[in-house]
Amino acid sequence: MTDFTMTTDADGIATITWDVPAKSMNVMSLAGFAELDAAMDAALADPGVKGILITSGKKDFAGGMDLNVIAEMRAGGAQAIFDGVMAMHAVLRKIERAGMDPKTLKGGKPIAAALPGTALGIGLELPLACHRIFAADNPKAKIGLPEIMVGIFPGAGGTTRLARKMGAMMAAPYLLEGKLSDPKSAKAGGLIDEVVAPDALLARAKEWLLAATDADLVKPWDAKGYKMPGGAPYHPAGFMTFVGASAMVLGKTMGVYPAAKALLSAVYEGALVPFDTALKIEARWFTHVLMNPSSTAMIRSLFINKEALEKGANRPALTDQSVQKLGVIGAGMMGAGIAYVSANAGIQVVLIDATQEAADRGRAHAESLLDKGIARRKVTPEKKAEVLARISATTDYAALAGCDLVVEAVFEDPKVKAEVTAKVEAATGPGCILATNTSTLPITGLARASTRPEAFIGIHFFSPVDKMNLVEIIRGKQTGPTAVAKALDFVRQIRKTPIVVNDARFFFANRCIIPYINEGIRMVAEGVEPALVENAAKLVGMPLGPLQLVDETSIDLGVKIAKATRAAMGDAYPDGAVDTVLFAMADAGRLGKKANAGFYAYDAQGKREGLWPGLATAHPVAASQPDLTEVQHRLLFAQVLEAVRALEDGVLTDIREGDVGAILGWGFAPWSGGPFSWLDMIGTPRAVEICDALAAAHGPRFAAPTLLREMAAGNQQFYSRFAPQVNAA
Ligand code: NAD
Repeated sequence: MTDFTMTTDADGIATITWDVPAKSMNVMSLAGFAELDAAMDAALADPGVKGILITSGKKDFAGGMDLNVIAEMRAGGAQAIFDGVMAMHAVLRKIERAGMDPKTLKGGKPIAAALPGTALGIGLELPLACHRIFAADNPKAKIGLPEIMVGIFPGAGGTTRLARKMGAMMAAPYLLEGKLSDPKSAKAGGLIDEVVAPDALLARAKEWLLAATDADLVKPWDAKGYKMPGGAPYHPAGFMTFVGASAMVLGKTMGVYPAAKALLSAVYEGALVPFDTALKIEARWFTHVLMNPSSTAMIRSLFINKEALEKGANRPALTDQSVQKLGVIGAGMMGAGIAYVSANAGIQVVLIDATQEAADRGRAHAESLLDKGIARRKVTPEKKAEVLARISATTDYAALAGCDLVVEAVFEDPKVKAEVTAKVEAATGPGCILATNTSTLPITGLARASTRPEAFIGIHFFSPVDKMNLVEIIRGKQTGPTAVAKALDFVRQIRKTPIVVNDARFFFANRCIIPYINEGIRMVAEGVEPALVENAAKLVGMPLGPLQLVDETSIDLGVKIAKATRAAMGDAYPDGAVDTVLFAMADAGRLGKKANAGFYAYDAQGKREGLWPGLATAHPVAASQPDLTEVQHRLLFAQVLEAVRALEDGVLTDIREGDVGAILGWGFAPWSGGPFSWLDMIGTPRAVEICDALAAAHGPRFAAPTLLREMAAGNQQFYSRFAPQVNAA
């Protein structure tokens, strides 16, 4: 197997083509690196070679590092990681120096990278070591360094090279936020050097190689008198940059993402020393991050497991069930969003509401999203017309004829939903699957209105549909495998991430998020300082504190859910203390963000101003306050114990879905890799110890579930017991 092949033409240009066999996208492996190194040695040593072109045999350049490489390196411990990274630095540095005399900087061979399409991670770090980067004018291509998104940072010189090429400030969005650009924006941002018509890509790169002079080969940081753009740390401008960047990173990450801080340290410390020492510093920080369990967990959940679920890890083995024609009933907030994302993915959509006006409003929602896309130059007018043409808005159920999937998103009322079910079934053929987007009503109950309960399923989207990537698929008691496969294929078509769970009150995501909100509100009722509650949540990596979250989702919705839950549970209902606070807020008209008044105060434009001062009157703050860790444990355990119970009850059947669903569905502390990864990180015995203390202080809702206690007794981990096949990167 060869990932890299080399041919030399009559002009003396050696073309090294990256084309990993049997993969649609190039990824770098250790063997691949060795081949690249050998090809480079041969080209540099061959007197007939005048210049070297590195390109790809595929439509894209490369997707990044094979994550198994990281797993392999990690298995050998810190020294193995450091040595592995330094070996990569040596190859890339050899490319950069290209055989030139280190003193005179003369006599090297020009090396160019030609990127036909996407170039991510090492797929950009390799070009950054070359002397010039050409990219085909391919608007679909993505260029950038997304490592930070999975809890690591560019560790093959990308951090050091980009910071020195652009300056820390300009490099920040690419390094710290993982910003990806199309080729034209990448050129404008200074990531690459030239954008060329796709069919002229190689010719233009060769032309440059043949004309390149010694001076074209010397990187600014290898030339005498190099100064970092924007100023190195002890330069007045650099001082401002680094102090600001440090504060910004801490503000954004709340200190819980080790990669962001390590990256900044690598840039800062690297800027004070010569280039080769900077690479060594980068390698040390990279090793530090890889040794942190957070990076293992993030890569496993956000990359490996997410991808496995998207590829159908839990799909019944049936033929392709891709949706040809979709019906959406209810053109409100959710229905309109579902229609939009589906039409955007090329699916024909019939969008039905009770009145033509409401149906048209739903279609207009898609139009306004497309217009926003046009304003941001992400959508062309032709694309807008194409997508809108796929959505027909009507009140006529007869238009559903030929639909193979219908998603219902009408009011959250079992009676209304039952009527709609009957009408849909009368208008569609026996092969049509009917899905409900209910957020709270059990699927098995709603399926009673269906004459084909095996074809009835829950497909639960999150709001806003166009932004939220998780879709929760819920199997009712009688739901059959075809319905599950249809739902999964639909989610794949619209490029979202599915989890499949069994039916139970609130399914999985809402089941975990409601106790989080309730715990926050309960603390306010107890007299815990509301700011402590909110900040404790953020400091542990939750994107929103529980009080802000309930303001965003609306307090009247919380009241509605509380009333329905109380009615269903009777005396066993545990959240009376929460309701006292929640109902009083609703009675005072403080319904949350939409009412410009909730746990927070808002200005007339709806901008959040801070916690509502009236809270202190309604719920006086106690003289003695809990410590930060205790508040954080209460907020985290409220969620993770529910996740464990969902696994125990058989609602969750795969912990990978629990972890991925938690992060994508409600933003559960992404640094942790999700609830099960977090429990593995702290260890089940320690988790039970914390539960015991919390239960003693705050009540039986924190009692360790039997499963957790049993696992703690044997010091078991969730991933080794429930997902031993998953390779932790
Ligand atoms: P919405 O009130 O914005 O929209 C409901 C739409 O259904 C309205 O346009 C209404 O005219 C229409 N409708 C009502 N009865 C109808 C009927 N008999 N025939 C045709 N159309 C009818 O509500 P929404 O927020 O879009 O929620 C819809 C569903 O999605 C609910 O089941 C809700 O629980 C669920 N859901 C909501 C959210 C959320 O965040 N809002 C999230 C997930 C799921």
